[in-house]
Amino acid sequence: MTHSFNALSMAEKQIADLDMQLLRRKLRITDTACDIKTTVNGRELTAFCSNDYLGFANHPGLISALSEGAHLYGAGSGASHLISGHNIAHESLEKKLAAFQSHHIPKARALFFSTGYLANLTAITGLVRLGQAGEASIYSAKLNHASLIDGVRLASAQNKASITLFDHQQLDSLRADLQKDSRPLKIIVTDGVFSMDGDIAPVPALLKIAEEFDALLLIDDAHGFGVLGEQGHGILEQEKLNSDRIVYIGTLGKAAGISGAFICAQEFFIEWLIQKGRPYIYSTATPPAIAHALLKSLEMIEGEEGRRRRAQLAQLIDIWHEEMIFSQWQKTSSCTPIQPVILGSNANALFASSLLDKAGYWIPAIRPPTVPAGSARLRITFSATHSADDLRQLIRTLKTIEQEAMTSAS
Ligand SMILES: *Cc1c(COP(=O)(O)O)cnc(C)c1O
Repeated sequence: MTHSFNALSMAEKQIADLDMQLLRRKLRITDTACDIKTTVNGRELTAFCSNDYLGFANHPGLISALSEGAHLYGAGSGASHLISGHNIAHESLEKKLAAFQSHHIPKARALFFSTGYLANLTAITGLVRLGQAGEASIYSAKLNHASLIDGVRLASAQNKASITLFDHQQLDSLRADLQKDSRPLKIIVTDGVFSMDGDIAPVPALLKIAEEFDALLLIDDAHGFGVLGEQGHGILEQEKLNSDRIVYIGTLGKAAGISGAFICAQEFFIEWLIQKGRPYIYSTATPPAIAHALLKSLEMIEGEEGRRRRAQLAQLIDIWHEEMIFSQWQKTSSCTPIQPVILGSNANALFASSLLDKAGYWIPAIRPPTVPAGSARLRITFSATHSADDLRQLIRTLKTIEQEAMTSAS
């Protein structure tokens, strides 16, 4: 007997619509650890799609640190940080994360989160509450990550913050908008490395603007932390910035190889977020074992291991720019491990991705709303565990696939 009701038939219709527009996303199941060789739905593929830039996700040193952490502190934290969940491992991790940014943010303090999504929601909604309703204006880069966008929207709904979008390659209009703004609390929000394009935000120029107009500058360095800077401390190290108006957010599930995120800022901002940051306050603390393993990851990021792996990434990026020559498809000038090939329509991106799959590669098609309509793409990412040969083989395959795709389109 079929039993239909409104919500169910609406869901069926919505999903059918997504199918029609080639926008339905599908889960794929791996039964191996995150690594460059991985079994996907039962087939072995070479992955060029994770954010495990340093190849730490399956590192023996981190696997043993995680199990050591579980032996020391158990499986779960039992409560939120402010109730009883704040463990010495969390505290030590926060100290070390703050030390990473201490040359860039005076009186830096760090606050650990279970995910970057929650860190971004907490930072934006919490900082806006430094003012009364209607006192804050937020300037948000158009290509920011969804979690920043959601943080901005929530801040606007909760506290009547105004929202102005800006193009990070056209800062004149940002400046013009700030000139007209008389609200007392201004926050500029940007990705450090744009997650789907791989280009780096013009953070020195943004900091100058923030200083000129007395704004805070919030930088989400999800793809820079561990990767950028001599010691892997991220975008602030690479760009040699120093300011107490910077609010830095890093994630720990990408280059750091595990899970979690943090906000690092001048100590008063962090203290405020502990008092008023709702997603921080009302969420169970991450298992301390994870924090314990992350301490080991930070040590590796800063040390010889991280240095060697960042050098390997730099070599891969050089090879890509020198040897990947398409006849029609376009590369970008990205100098990070994120290298998109923008194909335009959803159909083109899906077709290219399926040819790659047949050739043994895992590189998904990225479609709207993750990227703007008409800019569907392959998002190729490098990991330090890829060898130069792995990349050269991919380059050969991509050249063949470009020809195949063009032939079948004509
Ligand atoms: C991945 C990502 C996040 C979310 O971090 P999670 O820890 O995965 O929740 C936030 N911002 C950017 C730019 C990201 O790429």
